Amino acid sequence: MNYQSTRGHDVPQTFSEILLGGLAPDGGLYLPKAYPQVTADELEAWRKLPYADLAYEVLRKFCDDIPAEDLRALTRKTYRAEVYANARAGDNTADITPLRTLGAEGGTQLQLLGLSNGPTLAFKDMAMQLLGNLFEYALGRAGKELNILGATSGDTGSAAEYAMRGKRGIRVFMLSPHRKMSAFQTAQMFSLQDPNIFNLAVEGVFDDCQDIVKAVSNDLDYKARQRIGTVNSINWARVVAQVVYYFKGWLLATTGPGQKVSFSVPSGNFGNVCAGHIARMMGLPIDKLVVATNENDVLDEFFRTGTYRVRKSAETYHTSSPSMDISKASNFERFVFDLLGQDAGKLAALFRDVEAKGGFDLSGTPEFERIRQFGFVSGRSTHADRVATIQGISERYGITIDTHTADGVKVAREHLTPGVPMVVLETALPAKFADTIREALGHEPERPAAFEGIEKLPQRFEVMANDAAQVKAYIAGHTGL
Ligand SMILES: *Cc1c(COP(=O)(O)O)cnc(C)c1O
Repeated sequence: MNYQSTRGHDVPQTFSEILLGGLAPDGGLYLPKAYPQVTADELEAWRKLPYADLAYEVLRKFCDDIPAEDLRALTRKTYRAEVYANARAGDNTADITPLRTLGAEGGTQLQLLGLSNGPTLAFKDMAMQLLGNLFEYALGRAGKELNILGATSGDTGSAAEYAMRGKRGIRVFMLSPHRKMSAFQTAQMFSLQDPNIFNLAVEGVFDDCQDIVKAVSNDLDYKARQRIGTVNSINWARVVAQVVYYFKGWLLATTGPGQKVSFSVPSGNFGNVCAGHIARMMGLPIDKLVVATNENDVLDEFFRTGTYRVRKSAETYHTSSPSMDISKASNFERFVFDLLGQDAGKLAALFRDVEAKGGFDLSGTPEFERIRQFGFVSGRSTHADRVATIQGISERYGITIDTHTADGVKVAREHLTPGVPMVVLETALPAKFADTIREALGHEPERPAAFEGIEKLPQRFEVMANDAAQVKAYIAGHTGL
């Protein structure tokens, strides 16, 4: 299996070569040269597989440079019931991603695929946990070390830390805005005592943290000497790990070959729904892929009109589904590449326009018509919608959903097709977003047992000035390089 850049750089790369890297040298994103295919017979044979073995079957189609027995050991180590133990009472945790039927709506079943039962209560664990094990494996094989530098306002940083804690050859330096995260999020990250995890609380806001990461990454000498890497959402292994649960969701929602399922996906960086698109390109019978955004509706605007217009960070709204507060979707380029019939020249021109003019317009073109073939539809949700949806789902079905999942449910209901199950991806548990749950329901969300009293645990973190030089010195002092 060889990989290509969306912008045409044509030195073929293997899975292991792109695993630890970021962007391709031409600024593009990596994709396989051809999507591997899955037959209806293969799908039926996968029905009885536990999640870990299903993950092995899907992943081995994308990475043929890791020996089969090693890959199987990695997926079994990653997708164990003990790691995904935070499911609601009554859900089958052995499935890793339990499917729960909410009820009959619009002539079909509205269902919820639980992707948030991992250690940080958000779906990012599904991919990040695999990444931690893949990184440790690949670094060990190459005799190398990696120092991961990141900036977080909550979800991604904690998923990365819980995936990398205790891993040989890996250290994590995670910048977060000092005293700006919720008490729960702060406790989740800062209570980790593993010696390879470094929480750096920067005296500034999230954008300052991101600027420091950029400044460090732009110092190429330093970056090479300190072996700095990232785990951001463009990482191909993260996308491909997410492809697996579309297969699992389809298998759980159907009983036989050829049956169609739609998925509704709360979207920000377009990583999650891009994985759904790839599953569909592999032959999974998906009807619609519903892109649900919050008030930051760049993607909804594109899917309705064909105009892609990125916003500046100052124009990004801070919403009650904060993990979707994104104005430039970093994985979108992978999808546009397919929309353009994999024409790298055309793609490079469009994304030059994104940099120069802040966007592009495909309205009225044959390329834009292709989004119908690909099954994409979209919608947006607001704070009021979120609150009403959380209330409604609680009253009608007796279950509490988080704010991001509520956006997914709200938009899913606008795209129901009789007879086609609608599976909403549950991207976080409500315990993470207590403020809005209190506003909607008047009480605290339920907390998984493992998180009782987490705010009282001792915390390990270092306060840093908003200064890249100080961060660089700190990292160098702790890598010994
Ligand atoms: C990251 C995240 C999203 C958005 O996923 P993308 O892959 O960026 O589109 C949605 N909900 C939650 C809870 C998240 O953490």
